[in-house]
Amino acid sequence: MKLSDTIASILNSKDENRVLSVTPEQSVYEAIEKMAEHGIGALLVISGNGLVGILSERDYARKVILKGHSSRETLVREIMTCPVVFVSPQHTVDECMAIMTKHRFRHLPVVQEGAVVGVVSIGDLVKWIIYGQAQTIQELEGYIKGAYPG
Ligand code: AMP
Repeated sequence: MKLSDTIASILNSKDENRVLSVTPEQSVYEAIEKMAEHGIGALLVISGNGLVGILSERDYARKVILKGHSSRETLVREIMTCPVVFVSPQHTVDECMAIMTKHRFRHLPVVQEGAVVGVVSIGDLVKWIIYGQAQTIQELEGYIKGAYPG
């Protein structure tokens, strides 16, 4: 588990590689309900077969709650972000970290040949990196103990 690993490896390692989405015409309330049901913080907005936007809890907080709007009367298309920044399965973990840090968001759809094949969150990337570092520490400890037996 290294920074140079591809996003394909992360997607393959996920228990459930779900792509959860809403349509632009659904209400924000329905979208938030879906996020709560699945324990996630963002949904892709898909119209027909195409990715047309992304909606995160942050959009809800800033564009609905703070403005005193009603989530039942606001449509996803009114507050979603577009265009969406996405990556391919060949992108590496460190490239995706750099993209998320630069744009200050926590979700990246993964698109292959025009079709969405997954979503990675900053949580997925951080988990991967921490696991990789733990492995390295374990190997180094083994090496040190082996090289300098007490
Ligand atoms: P997040 O940090 O992912 O909850 O999102 C913060 C803001 O960035 C929200 O306005 C999202 O709609 C937007 N956003 C999140 N991910 C993306 C993405 N991959 N491309 C474009 N905008 C995004």
